[in-house]
Amino acid sequence: MKNFKTLLLVAAALLVSLSLGAKPKIRIIATGGTIAGVSSTSASSAYTAGQVGIQTLLDAVPQILNLADVSGEQLVNIGSQDMNDEVWLKLAKRINVLLNEEGYDGIVITHGTDTMEETAYFLNLTVKSDKPVVLAGSMRPSNAISADGPANLYNAVAAAVSPNTRGYGVLCCMNNQLLDAKTVIKTHTIDCDTFEGGPSGIIGYIYNGEAHMLQTPNNKHTINSVFDVTKLDRLPQVGIVYGYANASALPMQAFVDAKFDGIVLAGVGDGNFYKDVFDVAVKAQNQGIQIVRSSRCPTGPTCLNSEVDDEKYHFVAALDLNPQKARVLLMLALTKTHDWQEIQQFFKEY
Ligand code: GLU
Repeated sequence: MKNFKTLLLVAAALLVSLSLGAKPKIRIIATGGTIAGVSSTSASSAYTAGQVGIQTLLDAVPQILNLADVSGEQLVNIGSQDMNDEVWLKLAKRINVLLNEEGYDGIVITHGTDTMEETAYFLNLTVKSDKPVVLAGSMRPSNAISADGPANLYNAVAAAVSPNTRGYGVLCCMNNQLLDAKTVIKTHTIDCDTFEGGPSGIIGYIYNGEAHMLQTPNNKHTINSVFDVTKLDRLPQVGIVYGYANASALPMQAFVDAKFDGIVLAGVGDGNFYKDVFDVAVKAQNQGIQIVRSSRCPTGPTCLNSEVDDEKYHFVAALDLNPQKARVLLMLALTKTHDWQEIQQFFKEY
């Protein structure tokens, strides 16, 4: 009996020491983008996104193996201009399984930078875990001189293994910086230093393989989000209409004719419509197509009941969300309700 107890204690001690020494288990989900892109000449900006697979990306940064027990899977291999609702649903469901059923400690997603902010925000609202989920991409293709992909991937894994990033929701990791899914925006078409966190700035940074956090997100996300895609195989259809001087009402009318579920206005200034577009928007809202007012201005909120009387028309103001993220939230909101006041409340909380 005494020997048996000793044996149990030794086994328990062995298990504890093994688990203390074990590296965090990180899954890399590859979706394509410039980080997996190949240029015909290494000095050229002409290249094709989504060419090399996950193993080639990992082979370029063997140092990652010092940080984590890393494995990878290729979900799709596309330029992120081709990202769509179907891939988003697949991605969110897969991440939930990996984190909640398969024991992974964190997820890194390689992704094109064009729509990275939208994917990040969609996942921020649909991942059901407080474990780190980090998106990384690059602005230069994998075989370019001074390719930025390897460092971004290494930093993203460093962020995903860090206890400091737990509970922060979904992050983007580019150019040594960590950006919050709600505020991150791509600001430059070609520079490596393209991502910014809006007026609140970056949420953290990576230095020497360590994540340092500067502030916490103040919106609901991940485990506190009501949005659940487990049983969804499609999302409501929501389009974006761009505002400009002398704007044509045709794009708005086309979405109405196609029976879209919602339309986001990338309005001028504080989410204002050109008068012809406004008339179609009022009719659309009366037909049950939810209108959300956002702005083409890169900074500043679209305020409720400012120049447009939202309460009168039952429009929703996007507040801090840019048009492309307002579209993401409206799609998810419409899976829950068609009440404009409840949808406005989601825009206040998320
Ligand atoms: N269009 C590409 C994409 O988003 C290029 C942008 C990038 O990855 O940097 O996948």
